[in-house]
Amino acid sequence: MGKRSFETVGEAVITFFLLGAVAMTNWAAKAQTATAGFGPGNPFYAESALPFHAPPFDKIKDSDYQPAIDAGMAEQIAEVEAIANSPEPPTFENTIVALERSGQLLERANDAFNCVSQANLDDELQKVMEYEAPRLAAHQDAINLNPKLFARIKAIYQKRASLGLDPESLRLVEYDYQQFVKAGANLSEADKQKLKKLNEEESTLETTFMTKLQAAAKAGAYATTDKAALAGLSEGQIASAADAAKEHKQEGWLLPLQNTTQQPDLTFLSNRATREAIFENSWNRAERGDANDTRSTIARLAQLRAQKAALLGYPNFAAWDLTDQMAKTPQAAIDFIDALVPAATARAKREGDDIQALIDAQHGGFTLQPWDWEFYAEQVRKAKYDLDVAQVKPYFELNNVLENGVFYAAHELYGLTFKERHDIPVYQQDVRVFEVFDADGKPMALWYCDYFKRDNKNGGAWMDQLVSASKLMNQRPVVFNVANFEKPAPGQPALLSFDDVTTMFHEFGHALHGMLADTEYPSLSGTQTPRDFVEFPSQFNEHWASYPAVFDHYAKNYKTGEPMPADLKAKIEKSKTFNQGYDMTEILAAARLDMCWHTLPATAPLENPDVFETDALQQTHLALHAVPPRYRSSYFLHIWANGYDAGYYAYLWTEMLDDDAFQWFLDHGGMTRANGDRFRRMVLSRGNTEDLEKMYETWLGGKPNIEPMLKFRGLKDGD
Ligand SMILES: [Zn+2]
Repeated sequence: MGKRSFETVGEAVITFFLLGAVAMTNWAAKAQTATAGFGPGNPFYAESALPFHAPPFDKIKDSDYQPAIDAGMAEQIAEVEAIANSPEPPTFENTIVALERSGQLLERANDAFNCVSQANLDDELQKVMEYEAPRLAAHQDAINLNPKLFARIKAIYQKRASLGLDPESLRLVEYDYQQFVKAGANLSEADKQKLKKLNEEESTLETTFMTKLQAAAKAGAYATTDKAALAGLSEGQIASAADAAKEHKQEGWLLPLQNTTQQPDLTFLSNRATREAIFENSWNRAERGDANDTRSTIARLAQLRAQKAALLGYPNFAAWDLTDQMAKTPQAAIDFIDALVPAATARAKREGDDIQALIDAQHGGFTLQPWDWEFYAEQVRKAKYDLDVAQVKPYFELNNVLENGVFYAAHELYGLTFKERHDIPVYQQDVRVFEVFDADGKPMALWYCDYFKRDNKNGGAWMDQLVSASKLMNQRPVVFNVANFEKPAPGQPALLSFDDVTTMFHEFGHALHGMLADTEYPSLSGTQTPRDFVEFPSQFNEHWASYPAVFDHYAKNYKTGEPMPADLKAKIEKSKTFNQGYDMTEILAAARLDMCWHTLPATAPLENPDVFETDALQQTHLALHAVPPRYRSSYFLHIWANGYDAGYYAYLWTEMLDDDAFQWFLDHGGMTRANGDRFRRMVLSRGNTEDLEKMYETWLGGKPNIEPMLKFRGLKDGD
């Protein structure tokens, strides 16, 4: 693993953007009459009477969600219609603020539903999810494309400078207008129809892509009846492979494919032919010329997205998509990626040379190929760092990490304190609830954590909200963190890896962004920020996990209380820079491919994906034979169906921000309340209430810089 787990991060963001969509824009519509079965008996009917309006999970049944969500949509439609059809001339208050106030019931029900359907799914919730997904999308479209509503917003937008609005209100007007325009509200009726057709085709192709890819990944599992082919795997791994084969009613063993190019099993498999076969399965999974081949689908997707952008008045899809992002233009993102390429590829080449030397020393007699990388890199890692997970785990007991690490850092930086509450109902017995108090002792938020793996929980880790923060609605936030840590046997401590510890700090960073929100409007509050900003506070918070004053405060043996020995500590620190040339190059290659696909002009012909990909990597100096992109175009789920189109760069962009920000702390005295409070006041509490580039640069006192990122990844010359 590299410095941080991108998959985990990725899933968290995707969760935000797809499922948080209703709360984010807070409008949408189609007349719904499905209020049958909804009344005062439903726990969502009225605002919760619990502290912080926490959802009454003790009263909520699975069957309560659907009627509440349906009634919530109907209620919001009525509210939006009343705004759009008002005989009063449009004002900030009767239009923009009224929109912010709309949809309370929907948000209440949908936030709780998103939480349980992802963290504690069952068949009934699954059915509700399938039933509501298209309805929620249509609901949102109906609001975004309501011409009377848009006319009022536009009228306010055009005279915004003369309305005497405070900066946050002005930002909200601009934000609302931008979201409507982005969705096509400014188009003529004829063009709106064209856009609608393109959107429908896009959505169909995205589904087609996903369906094909799932089937392709399934078909791409490596199957064998020869146990010798699996040499190098542990007995546990071999047993799982046997189980996987049984599940698919196959003889022998089965190693399923994961969505990245490299496969985790390649780290252990000593049989080179097996490695090559698995890599081939991965690389060509969606390019076999069969029903699961995605190439024609992605070629058309890229073309129609360019056509969509042209219709909306932009030279390419990325230019349209980035208008509301921190980077703002594709060029800014491309310049950023390109600036990292020389350092990353130079280091990757050196890592490759080290591996080749090892192969030669072992008389391998072959040239390093992509399917060899992980296997030999693991040997280099063992020789250089020899970090044994079993050795470190006793120093990372979950409760201790939480109280003396995660909470401690938040106390030292922002003055927060935490008290566990046992009187707030939860949706599953493993969930814990803490009340969060501000530095002056004032109750500030509720924070839930649901840390242990369950079969009915999505993979990875994420943060989301149950109640959004806003002064307008007089609401303090209720947020939660979910993870998938191993659950210990009853009475045993939960011992974590350092990756798990980092995940805790990461997700808590999102939670802080939500809990410290001090804004007027829900649409601009807390984590309601663009893709290329939202991971900044979370990744920033990861840095404190290894900050000496914090690390030494929590990293103590759970039995003896002894601090972690210095040599073990040094190994953890050093192992962070392992294989970073490879890790960063494969991500840069994927990010650059994404940008190449999404900066095609509408006039471009249908591309041949293989030719296009080869050319793109060559032209951007990212065609390293042994370092393929993290995702090949034909299985790049993030950009074709998961909302990261023209957005994959955001992972590295936010890393630049968080490393740069942490460096600022180091340069200004480190972990102090003064530094923490300044960061909180100027960034963390402000959500999306100011142009984010400006907000960041005002806080930093300059432009964000890639140097700290290269330093922390160990990619500076001489490291
Ligand atoms: Zn995250």
